[in-house]
Amino acid sequence: MMDSTGLEAELQNLEDAGLRRRLRRVESAPGPEVTVEGRRMLMCASNNYLGLAQDPRLIEAAHRAMIRYGAGSTGSRLISGDTELHEALEKRIARWKGTEAALVFATGYMANVALATTLAGEEDVIFSDEWNHASIIDGCRLSRARVSVYRHADPGDLESKIIAAGPARRRLIYTDGVFSMDGDVAPLPRLLEVAGKYDAFVVVDDAHAGGVLGKRGRGTMEYYGLSPAPRIIQMGTLSKAAGVEGAYVAGAKAVIDYLINRARPFIFSTAPSPAAVGAALVAVEIMEQEQWRRDHLRALVSRLRTGLRERGWRVPEGSTPIIPVIIGEVGETLRLAARLDDAGIFAPAIRPPTVPPESCRIRLTVTAAHRMEDVDRILAVFTTEG
Ligand code: PMP
Repeated sequence: MMDSTGLEAELQNLEDAGLRRRLRRVESAPGPEVTVEGRRMLMCASNNYLGLAQDPRLIEAAHRAMIRYGAGSTGSRLISGDTELHEALEKRIARWKGTEAALVFATGYMANVALATTLAGEEDVIFSDEWNHASIIDGCRLSRARVSVYRHADPGDLESKIIAAGPARRRLIYTDGVFSMDGDVAPLPRLLEVAGKYDAFVVVDDAHAGGVLGKRGRGTMEYYGLSPAPRIIQMGTLSKAAGVEGAYVAGAKAVIDYLINRARPFIFSTAPSPAAVGAALVAVEIMEQEQWRRDHLRALVSRLRTGLRERGWRVPEGSTPIIPVIIGEVGETLRLAARLDDAGIFAPAIRPPTVPPESCRIRLTVTAAHRMEDVDRILAVFTTEG
């Protein structure tokens, strides 16, 4: 075939380097087992941490919301898209997080871009953990602020970077609460200490922590027993433990009002759909109340992490349901991914650009919908020689 666009050649380069991606079609509801392109597989790659994505109560709530408010929200929040359901969700999230206010977004990507670009501009500096999620990195780039990247989870390096950056109108420290590819928890108390010394805002991306960390699943702050403060901003997604889609920012009322007035991803984009908002409202309630989901998840995580280490695999310390098995080079990682696939386990290889080239990995996730037998099934593949 003629390569009239020049793009085929670039795709071929990706193919040759083992880096070309392809979509894998899921043909069933998001349970612990799913049908992927005709095959039943154990799902070990989803972010459905509490097993809520297929919960009948969420589905029913989405249905009720659509019947009442329609299939689409018809416009941005500031024009025609604001409903009492959106406001109820925001109040509920603020109550769960213990903050003055909250604001919902259609996706977490948008929420991060909104926060970085609204709170920081040319006169400001953003200090960003080197392993932060791509949506934070993109938000930093779009913000036109100076961006200083500090060593992963290193408050000492953060402080040196703040000193080196010199004066700024505003300083913003940005960190994932739970890092999405490594599953480790940010050293938030020490980051807050540094922030306090330099009057910096701290934004915590709780995408993978909400519903998972803390007794009530309130996330990284609850995990460390920290209380909300005017300069601490929490964002999180409704697409992972909550099992729906969308995101929120929770914080002081002034921050939320400022976003409503200034955040372009909020102002110029259609409000989240009634179905998603209705389902998320029920999901927050369940996340807070049903602690057995977190207890069961913790037991599964502990068995899988311990089992992998006992079998000699490189699994960094941690306690979250994101369990990276670090392999190193891309070829070997793809061979292990193929073995898992043959065994009916869905856990794709994670490679560049998502992670650095020398730390390719299998990223396993478990959810409260899994059973102990499922964990044993995963471990069996990591037991046999390749
Ligand atoms: N932050 C983190 C840490 C994430 O892992 C993700 C997505 N997986 C996002 C933000 C973006 O959220 P969304 O998928 O809702 O756009």
